[in-house]
Amino acid sequence: MLAERWEDRETEWATARCKDGTGDLTALFFSEQLDDIARAKAICAECPLREACFEDALARHEPYGVWGGRLFFKGKVLAFKRPRGRPPKNAQSMIA
Ligand code: SF4
Repeated sequence: MLAERWEDRETEWATARCKDGTGDLTALFFSEQLDDIARAKAICAECPLREACFEDALARHEPYGVWGGRLFFKGKVLAFKRPRGRPPKNAQSMIA
């Protein structure tokens, strides 16, 4: 029974959008660059495994990376990531 479940899982994961067989996308999914994170999320947006991927990442307590289209940072799921450095002086006007 358990073996059957794992076989199903293997079949499912074969359809993952990030699984290109080269591992070239790994850096994208674990980057701290905002444009890389956006690209990783865009790949996840087209993935049929998005919800399962996110739930599994939560269950594994993933510390970092984009999983299921969401960004994990220091073990927390962030709604968005701020750019590095100090916020611009006119940050308040940008929020309003
Ligand atoms: S949701 Fe994203 S990280 Fe998860 S399997 Fe799909 S493409 Fe990969």
